[in-house]
Amino acid sequence: MKSSRIPGFYKKTIEERKELIHSMYPFTEEELATLSAEAPLAQDIADNMIENVVGTFQLPLGLGLNFLINGKEYIIPMAIEEASVVASASHIAKIVRDAGGFTAESTDRVMIGQIQVVGCPDFQQAKTAVLENKDALIKAANEAFPSIVRRGGGAEDLDVRILNEEADSAFGKMLIVHLYVNTVDAMGANLINTMAESIAPLVEKITSGKVYLRILSNLADRSLARARCVIPPHLLKTGDFSGEEVRDGVIHAYEFAASDPYRAVTHNKGIMNGVDPVVIATGNDWRAVEAGAHAYAVKDGQYTSMTTWWKDEQGNLVGELELPMSVGTVGGATRVHPLAKMALKLLDVSSAKELAEVIVTVGLAQNLGALKALATDGIQKGHMTLHSRSVAIAAGATGEMIDIIAKELIKINEIRVGKAKELVEKYKR
Ligand code: NDP
Repeated sequence: MKSSRIPGFYKKTIEERKELIHSMYPFTEEELATLSAEAPLAQDIADNMIENVVGTFQLPLGLGLNFLINGKEYIIPMAIEEASVVASASHIAKIVRDAGGFTAESTDRVMIGQIQVVGCPDFQQAKTAVLENKDALIKAANEAFPSIVRRGGGAEDLDVRILNEEADSAFGKMLIVHLYVNTVDAMGANLINTMAESIAPLVEKITSGKVYLRILSNLADRSLARARCVIPPHLLKTGDFSGEEVRDGVIHAYEFAASDPYRAVTHNKGIMNGVDPVVIATGNDWRAVEAGAHAYAVKDGQYTSMTTWWKDEQGNLVGELELPMSVGTVGGATRVHPLAKMALKLLDVSSAKELAEVIVTVGLAQNLGALKALATDGIQKGHMTLHSRSVAIAAGATGEMIDIIAKELIKINEIRVGKAKELVEKYKR
């Protein structure tokens, strides 16, 4: 059985890491070659994905380790350009693992299709008529996409709202129909848009209005994933701080984000540092996840922390994160991009629900990583140490020079490209 606890993984060479992963997974040679390929995404595939293609763009792909979620081991692929994110997630996952691991759960994957109707002669009557025809509309939506019903999903419910009821101009007053669709393992944008477009004529007939927009909502608040961890303080202890100090520092940091949007945005950016790399690595739509997550963070009227941290009666640090998670294990780029396919294999998830649970867990881990650093040494110490390598590369260092220049930058405490360039020149001489 595979374990995500791989001590010293970071010290190995890329080749050694790949060999280790190969020994843990039944990858084919072809799949392994994908990891080593200079351009894993071939230009002809890219050319069919978007328009005006002139090349492909790469990001580093790292592995988040030590994750134990609902008793299952996960090795988590993360595609990101920012140093220290993968290390921090793995560091926190190790601590939480020693506390028994994360728990996670999710709702069914119900996404929302919106249909905008304007110009109804009587909006209240139109609303009543839509509700009276609910079953017929749901049936028509499912007839437009029967395969999703066969897969155990499909349109399940419907709701109507009147927006700007008091508006008396030609613009502004509208009826919005929400179609709730279980998209099973797909993100579901295409199937929902198909359903919304196909029932639009029926909606017009029922409401005597005119339909304009027919599109998925990215506020996926019926497709939620939650992660939780409970950590005894002794596991949080660092060289300079007691576990209780770290725990209380994390809670103070959370309270700041919970009360102040200026802090909450940065706090939540740190959460998305964990979420986005997994969403990207698995070929999912990170703009959809980002938009949904930030909108959900303002659901109670004020933009606030996505996570919650508190101390339980035993003195443990408890953290929770709940986010809308519109991701799929099928469709979109998940089955087109060779590395996305590899990422899904590495994750070994059997459903989109499970993928959503893993992603939200990484977000929670990432948040604790940032809060723990902020509440103790400050974030720059660890971050700049890792950042120094990127700075060395940006200054023109290659091969063994990267390590030497990075270490020198840390030693003189001047992690700047200008200084690195000076050192590179000196080294070359
Ligand atoms: P696809 O249309 O590519 O794939 C979904 C399809 O996969 C389903 O309709 C289904 O078709 C098939 N499928 C196979 N196995 C399963 C399964 N187990 N569960 C569910 N479906 C399955 O992708 P999506 O509809 O998910 O749309 C995602 C894409 O849409 C993303 O690329 C996104 O960027 C894009 N998009 C996003 C928008 C937004 O966020 N606002 C708007 C428009 C597009 P079948 O049953 O027929 O085989």
